[in-house]
Amino acid sequence: MAWDFETDPEFAEQLAWIDGFVRDEIEPIDLLIDDPWDVRDPLRNDLIVPLQDEVKKRELWACHLGPELGGQGYGQVKLALMNELLGRSLAAPIVFGTQAPDSGNSEILAHYGTAEQKQRYLEPLLDGRIVSCFSMTEPHGGADPEVFTTRAELDGDEWVINGEKWFSSNAAPAAFFIVMAVTDPDAQPYRRQSMFIVPAETPGIEILRNVEGHHAYIRYTDVRVPSDHILGARGEAFVVAQTRLGGGRIHHAMRTIGLARHCLDLMCRRALSRHTQGETLADKQLVRAAIAESWCQIESFRLLVLRTAWKIDRYQDYKRLRGDISAVKAMMPKVLHEVASRALQIHGSIGTTAEMPFLGYVRDSYTMALADGPTEVHLTNLARALLRNYQADTDTFPDYHIPRRRQEAEEKFRLLLDKHARSV
Ligand SMILES: Cc1cc2nc3c(=O)[nH]c(=O)nc-3n(C[C@H](O)[C@H](O)[C@H](O)COP(=O)(O)OP(=O)(O)OC[C@H]3O[C@@H](n4cnc5c(N)ncnc54)[C@H](O)[C@@H]3O)c2cc1C
Repeated sequence: MAWDFETDPEFAEQLAWIDGFVRDEIEPIDLLIDDPWDVRDPLRNDLIVPLQDEVKKRELWACHLGPELGGQGYGQVKLALMNELLGRSLAAPIVFGTQAPDSGNSEILAHYGTAEQKQRYLEPLLDGRIVSCFSMTEPHGGADPEVFTTRAELDGDEWVINGEKWFSSNAAPAAFFIVMAVTDPDAQPYRRQSMFIVPAETPGIEILRNVEGHHAYIRYTDVRVPSDHILGARGEAFVVAQTRLGGGRIHHAMRTIGLARHCLDLMCRRALSRHTQGETLADKQLVRAAIAESWCQIESFRLLVLRTAWKIDRYQDYKRLRGDISAVKAMMPKVLHEVASRALQIHGSIGTTAEMPFLGYVRDSYTMALADGPTEVHLTNLARALLRNYQADTDTFPDYHIPRRRQEAEEKFRLLLDKHARSV
C-alpha cells in the first residue's frame, strides 16, 4: 500500500537550497522593484536574469513543464513543495520561470500552437526573455464568459478583432496577447468563441489605462492577425481556456500556502516577543487559539492542495479533477484572509501599516477570490460535481430514517434477538 508523506532526500536538498535562495537572493528584490514582470526595466533585468541563470543551472527552471518543453517534468507534487517556498516572494516565480499568466499561456501554446508559433512565441516565453498576457475578461462581466462580446471576423486570410477587455494582467510589457473573441455568434453558447494569438505590436491595440497595478483595460480596434493565429479549433475557446486555468489555479494555491505559513511564522515571533500585563502575548489564551487555528487551517489546506496535485500527476486530466481544483480555489482566499488578519491583529497598530506586509496579504486574499473565477462559482462547481454522485430519495421516509433502519436490523438479527429474548 502506498501512502506516503516523505520527501526523497535528494529533492529535500533542492528544497533546502530553494528556501535559502528565496530568502537571501530574491526577497530583497521584492523591496526594490514594483513589477518583476516588466522585462523593459533594465534594473529588473540586471537583478533577475543572473538569478534565473542560476536556477536553470540547478535544473529547477520551469518545473511546471515536461522535459519536452524545457521543464524538469517533476510533476505537480514536487512543484507544490517548490511553489510553497516561492509563494513568499512576488519575484520568486519569475526567477524560477513558473509565473502566471505565462505558465498557463505556455501550456496553451504547447498544446495548440503550430510549430512556427511555438518557435516564435513559446520558446522565448519559456526562456524568460518575454512575458505574455491573457485577455479574456470584459468590462461588463467576467464570471460568465457567455456575456463576452469582443468579436473576431474572418476577412480574407485574416481575423479582424474588435472589442474591449478588462483586467488583462501584464498587458504593457507583454510581447503577445492571447485573446478570446466571438467567432460564431449563432452557435451553441459554449461554441461561440475562439482563442487568438495577437502580437503586441499589432496596430489597433490600445491600453486605455492600467486599472490597478499592471491589470489593463484594453481596446482592440480592427486588430488584424493572420488566420493561422487561432489557437485550437474554431469555437473551442472554452476548452482551450480550461487547459490553462486548471494548472493556473492549483499553482496559485501552492504559492498561497507559502504566504500563509509566512504569516504564521511572523505571528508566532511577535507573540513570543511582545509583552503586556506582565506576560507575553503568547501567554494569552486567545492569542494561542489564533496561532493554533491558523496552523490547523494552513495544514488542512496544504493537504488538500497536495492531494489534488497528486491526483493531477496520477490522472493527467484536469477535467476529471474540476471539483477538487474548485475546492482548492475556494479555500485559498479564505485561509489567507483569516491567517493574515490574525497576524495583522497580533502585530497591533504597526500591523495595519505598510511597514508590515499583512494588509497587502489581506488585500491579496480579495483579489484571489476573483482572479481565475469568483469563489461563488467554484463552490457551485464543486457542489455540482458532488451532487452527481447522489440520487434523489423517492420515499418520504428514506432508508436512513432511524425507525426504518431499526426495523430492518431487527429483521436481520431476529433469531438472535429471540434467543436472548430481546427487543429493540
Ligand atoms: C488580480 C486579478 C488578476 C486578473 N487577471 C486577469 C487576466 O490576466 N486576464 C483576464 O482575462 N482576467 C483577469 N482577471 C479578471 C477575473 O477573471 C475576473 O475578475 C473574474 O472572472 C470575475 O469577473 P468580474 O470581476 O467581472 O466580476 P463579476 O462577473 O461582475 O462578478 C462579481 C461578483 O458577482 C458574484 N457572482 C458572479 N457570478 C456568480 C455566480 N455564478 N454565483 C454566485 N455569485 C456570483 C460574485 O460575488 C462575484 O465576485 C483578474 C482579476 C484579478 C482580481
